[in-house]
Amino acid sequence: SENLIRRAEKLSIVGELAAGIAHEIRNPLTALKGFLQLLKSKETSYVDIMLVEIERINQIVNEFMCMAKPHTDRFVEMDLKEIIDNVIFMLQPQALLYNVQMNFEMDAKDSRIICEPNQLKQVFINLIKNSIEAMPSGGNITVLMDDSDTSALQIVIRDEGPGISEDQIPYLGKPFYTTKEKGTGLGLMVCFKIIEAHHGYMSIQSELGKGTTMVIRLPRTATNQILEETSCCHV
Ligand code: ADP
Ligand code: MG
Repeated sequence: SENLIRRAEKLSIVGELAAGIAHEIRNPLTALKGFLQLLKSKETSYVDIMLVEIERINQIVNEFMCMAKPHTDRFVEMDLKEIIDNVIFMLQPQALLYNVQMNFEMDAKDSRIICEPNQLKQVFINLIKNSIEAMPSGGNITVLMDDSDTSALQIVIRDEGPGISEDQIPYLGKPFYTTKEKGTGLGLMVCFKIIEAHHGYMSIQSELGKGTTMVIRLPRTATNQILEETSCCHV
């Protein structure tokens, strides 16, 4: 069976709150981390646990930072192929560790797009990472880009992981929904949010036992709406 979802709604209030809260949490967090590092020489084991937990908070905050308030001047023309090449390069070490092979097939003559490059980069990091994590004992990830519709770019990310059951699908993209021991459950929410800000859409097709396919459509000129300047792209 094929599951399809399309969710580009209900996330804007969360996004606006997230930006503010993330900023407020980040500063004390940085201070805490610094002082703990100073303390480390004395109370090593306790401090190590505290540093790990702080890093976890930091990761959650970072992912929240990626969906922020609308802005106005961060969209630029970029070659989406370059962004994806870069993400694949960045994720190579993790893929190798899982024995995962990433293939990028270009079927687009022109892959230029008006976008917020760091945000789109974060989308592809989150999705390809999910595919890698879905195949801990190896497999293939195929990324396909297609510009047969001249007004939009279509990007397909396909993996050979266990797939996602039909009853799980409605939860994907909801904050903190994760099936992973160390997951944050924020990756897909961030993806939906960013793609929405680019006036595109993302759908998830999955078949248990066969794999998962994410389909993203991005119009070449996503006007006016922008995400706030943030430091994104955390691997
Ligand atoms: P996280 O990766 O931190 O768990 P995400 O929002 O990225 O959070 O993903 C939420 C959940 O969706 C994952 O925990 C997993 O159950 C499921 N999922 C996402 N992508 C895939 C995939 N490619 N294959 C199988 N399951 C997936
Ligand atoms: Mg994830």
